Amino acid sequence: MATNAVLTLDDLDTWRFEGTCLAVLGHPIKHSISPAMHTAALADMARLDPRFSNWKYVKFDVPPEHLPQALDRLHAKGFFGLNLTVPHKVLAFSRVGCIDPAALPIGAVNTLRREPLGWKGFNTDGYGLCMAVRETLNIELAGSHVILVGAGGAARGAAVECLQKNCRSLWIGNRSTENLDRLLADLRGLSGSIPVHGFSTGSTPLGIPSGALLINATSAGLRPDDPLPIPLTVLPKPAGVYDMIYNPAETPLLRTARSLQIPASNGLSMLVHQGVRALEIWSEASVPVGAMREAAMKAMAW
Ligand code: NDP
Repeated sequence: MATNAVLTLDDLDTWRFEGTCLAVLGHPIKHSISPAMHTAALADMARLDPRFSNWKYVKFDVPPEHLPQALDRLHAKGFFGLNLTVPHKVLAFSRVGCIDPAALPIGAVNTLRREPLGWKGFNTDGYGLCMAVRETLNIELAGSHVILVGAGGAARGAAVECLQKNCRSLWIGNRSTENLDRLLADLRGLSGSIPVHGFSTGSTPLGIPSGALLINATSAGLRPDDPLPIPLTVLPKPAGVYDMIYNPAETPLLRTARSLQIPASNGLSMLVHQGVRALEIWSEASVPVGAMREAAMKAMAW
């Protein structure tokens, strides 16, 4: 089966596979490059350890209303690991029996591992972000002032990671105050002595220090006519801009940052590193980052 084939739950009626099966579930899922990344990494791992030669990673289109039955049916069919993408990360959090303690404060899971009676949920997005900003911008979350834009699922993972890594301060901006206030309330017990400030991206935030790391965790930039998630010129000059969006490769935010000579990176590196961590959780083996990165870049035709 081609790594790009899109399966549906109907395909499980006749599903037969003797090896270890992994899948990503999303809706839509057609454009997911996770199968290409994982298949490349597994091929590389199989050269050292033949046990991985019968591991397979496929993608399923699962609408949100079908997620509960999808989780049950994939478990019954013997699937070993699942990745979850839009819109399932928060939905699955309340559907799995056991959650990795590190994912509890996030309230969302993107990686499930088979347990005898159900699934155990993990969240590898924060790890992916931390590795990605280190790799692409040479910035550590630990000790950094961070301006995080967004208050959805990805922003939740990023905010918890920043606090757990001991960032110096965290400034969270969002379009709607409702989602922002909910996130700020959820972070209250986690922040300890780290200052956490909220602001509306419609107003000029006061007190942000220069030299911060700016992270875009909104979907603004996915479409060419989207507005900037935050007008860069109202901020003191950041040390770097990380946009979680990787398709398109250059969002208006990244273009603006580069025109101001601010180091900037898109989100492909985060996608790669969250995938590496997921495969480490399933395989309990060392995962080749280079093979995954190369496959991701090839799949995006960069
Ligand atoms: P959610 O739908 O949970 O959250 C969307 C966020 O974007 C909210 O804060 C929303 O604000 C904001 N938003 C949406 N449209 C606009 C707009 N036009 N202007 C300003 N703000 C806007 O999505 P996720 O958190 O799951 O994903 C966010 C982004 O991160 C996506 O682009 C996704 O592709 C990317 N991502 C990348 C990953 C990677 O590995 N590189 C991993 C995970 C996500 P409001 O609350 O006001 O609605």
